[in-house]
Amino acid sequence: MIYLDNAATTPVIPKALEVAWSYLTTEFGNPSSTHELGLRAGTALEDARARCAKWLDVPGADIVFTSGGTEGDNLAITGLALANPRGKHIISVPTEHEAVLETLRFLERVHGFEITWLSVDREGMIDLHEFTSDLRPDTSLVTLMLANNEVGTIHPLPEIIQAAHAAGALVHTDAVQAAGWLDIRGGKNGTLLSGVDALTISGHKLGAPKGSGLTYIRGRYAVEPLLHGGGQEQGRRSGTENVAWALALATALEALPEPTAEAERMGTLRDEFISAVTSTIPHAALTGSPAHRHPAIASFTCAGLNGETLLLELEQRGVIVSSGSACAAGSDEPSHVLLACGIDADTAQTSVRFSFSHHTTAEELHLAAAAFAEAVAAVSSLSN
Ligand code: PLP
Repeated sequence: MIYLDNAATTPVIPKALEVAWSYLTTEFGNPSSTHELGLRAGTALEDARARCAKWLDVPGADIVFTSGGTEGDNLAITGLALANPRGKHIISVPTEHEAVLETLRFLERVHGFEITWLSVDREGMIDLHEFTSDLRPDTSLVTLMLANNEVGTIHPLPEIIQAAHAAGALVHTDAVQAAGWLDIRGGKNGTLLSGVDALTISGHKLGAPKGSGLTYIRGRYAVEPLLHGGGQEQGRRSGTENVAWALALATALEALPEPTAEAERMGTLRDEFISAVTSTIPHAALTGSPAHRHPAIASFTCAGLNGETLLLELEQRGVIVSSGSACAAGSDEPSHVLLACGIDADTAQTSVRFSFSHHTTAEELHLAAAAFAEAVAAVSSLSN
């Protein structure tokens, strides 16, 4: 099997599982307990926090452990929006993940926020001039993902952060797909996210268990919590902390390769894969931005073919991919991302997303491109 659906989820790495196992079994204490077992769990939790903070180059006190990307996006966006007295205007983009879209719709519906949705071009890219002119004195928050999970387009976060800060607005970014592939260190100058006010990471996209994750929110900002209770995580997220998952996340983050070199290495393999596909399969049209693109995501539409059958044909040839966001699974609606890019609904139904892991090889991509060509030929012959 060639698994090329890593943007949907990844296997847990053995080292992360090992550390989690011991904190689920022998070292199972509650970090709030005052006996020795609890104290050890508390120390381990803070160790995990310090290691994640070091990896992100931000203060440990600004990290909240969450149950993953969905919760992290909800916490950062709702938490900052409700606590920020500046105003009720938020700017975002219709190509965000549902975790962001639905949170914004909730703020609009229940709390009277006004959302400005930026337009995107055919490649899923925003227009910075439009963005700057949409900033208002009452804009409290801008939330724009760094790398899109379906088409891989990378937004110009440094320019967005600079313009938003100049106008007095905070910036949150969903960095769920970017983590491990792009330089998302928050504190360091010159990285993609230097100066960002909040960012979200999900563990299961990078070798930690499903249900692990973190959100970084700059310490000095007030945050309205989603979960009310015992006041854990500095009152930002109540509930007994998941020490095992926090340690697994720290371990998985530390095992990731250095992002700049990795983005270059995988970007080369991705481009070879894209050329192999587009030169042999006339049906396949690349989606997203060719120039500003996640190094491990290559997605195509195959107009005129049946997308679902295409995925099955690929699977029969041992290549596991998806049609786009697994997070909207079960729905046979065309992708909201492709529709926002101006792709018609019928063509959007034919999308195939290949997403690589740090271990994906050139040989696997060569085989996958050949399998894709065969699958397209098989589906075309069915539809003739
Ligand atoms: N944000 C993005 C960009 C994603 O791709 C996903 C999952 O696919 C999420 C958020 C949700 O993360 P989780 O599955 O950890 O809730």
